[in-house]
Amino acid sequence: MSPQRGWPSEYDLWFDAYEAAFERQGATEGLLCPHCGVATLILRFISFDQGEISASVMPALWCSTCLHGLAPARALLPPWATPVSPDDPSVPDYEIVADS
Ligand SMILES: [Zn+2]
Repeated sequence: MSPQRGWPSEYDLWFDAYEAAFERQGATEGLLCPHCGVATLILRFISFDQGEISASVMPALWCSTCLHGLAPARALLPPWATPVSPDDPSVPDYEIVADS
């Protein structure tokens, strides 16, 4: 498989994957990575406010195979998600896919 050029952009595909994972309450099984095509996406909600469970969080979606992913953006924590701290070792320093 060669990467798609033009429309939709890889960023659009990442956002589609994020929305799909969100609708499935964080389940990413079977969702293909828009960058490498492997179904190893991970969705985590990063909380910067210790102890404030209702505070806003940053959803992070990345692929554990090629270490590409979406830039975290501010969002409300969905009731089904368990937030992790920013220095949680399960969140790698992945490469951000930019909106082009
Ligand atoms: Zn990948």
